[in-house]
Amino acid sequence: MSIKQPIPVTGPRRVYCHAKRYITPNLLRITVSGDELIGFPCGYHAAHIKLFFANRHTRQLDLPVRDTQGVIHWPEARPVTRAYTVRAFRQEMNELDIDFVVHGDDSPASGWALNATIGSELGIAGPGGPDPLLAPADWHLLAGDLTAVPAISALLEHFPHDVRASVFIEIDHEEDKHTIAAPTGVDIHWLKRVKGQPEQLAKVISQITLPDTAQSISAFIAGENSAVLACRRVLIEQFGLSKQQLYAIPYWRRGQDEETYHEQRHVIMDEVY
Ligand SMILES: Cc1cc2nc3c(=O)[nH]c(=O)nc-3n(C[C@H](O)[C@H](O)[C@H](O)COP(=O)(O)OP(=O)(O)OC[C@H]3O[C@@H](n4cnc5c(N)ncnc54)[C@H](O)[C@@H]3O)c2cc1C
Repeated sequence: MSIKQPIPVTGPRRVYCHAKRYITPNLLRITVSGDELIGFPCGYHAAHIKLFFANRHTRQLDLPVRDTQGVIHWPEARPVTRAYTVRAFRQEMNELDIDFVVHGDDSPASGWALNATIGSELGIAGPGGPDPLLAPADWHLLAGDLTAVPAISALLEHFPHDVRASVFIEIDHEEDKHTIAAPTGVDIHWLKRVKGQPEQLAKVISQITLPDTAQSISAFIAGENSAVLACRRVLIEQFGLSKQQLYAIPYWRRGQDEETYHEQRHVIMDEVY
């Protein structure tokens, strides 16, 4: 992964649901705003953000506090934390878009998004993550599931007009296929996930014929654990990508919530990075 300069992390900030609209039946955009969003760093589309939701027992949202040395002090009633993506930040409007894959209303993040009404509160810290997210190259590969779509869409929106890239998105539901704005040199392919075949996306990637002009490659892969690991294997073993050329982060794991999966994600990432 191309961690060159860590983005200065800011927050936590308390923000509020300002607008809510479905991009597709299972991808829900929540636009947040509020006085504490003022000063959120600009230019970090597709970067990681940390979201804070109300404590499971008290149902109150108490945010941690960052002191002048950058040390975080957690409240007694800890909020639930989840990682998400900066889909877009409009400084002039003081609005931040976050796109949530909605997969049920009994989990903290998806449940919050589904039930959010105008004024519902949320904590945010960041942006953070590798910078740049995608290393410069002649040709890019972007792939993942619906959770990767916010980052992929944000990256495509900001690519130079002459960029060359292929995008592969694996979805559970046909109706989540939608138009993603991209330069003309980008081809976008949608695949329907086949239950029990987490290697489908990797197989498709392994069959790509690289364009003759692709002297250098970089890749962005994100989504469910097994699919990301299979893609990462192909990109390292078959395409010979180095750690600087490859962002491959498992965003979630089927059957495990973030609390039980969090440490495993770091072990998995440390295997390569
Ligand atoms: C850097 C980073 C950026 C991310 N950006 C985004 C983003 O922009 N948008 C986004 O939607 N997600 C994003 N994710 C993924 C998101 O953090 C996880 O999906 C998270 O687990 C959702 O939290 P939850 O409280 O809804 O579910 P949890 O409480 O974590 O899990 C409850 C149950 O739901 C299952 N589950 C979790 N996520 C999904 C899913 N997407 N589909 C089906 N089942 C699921 C779990 O396996 C578990 O069984 C990102 C993750 C990372 C690490």
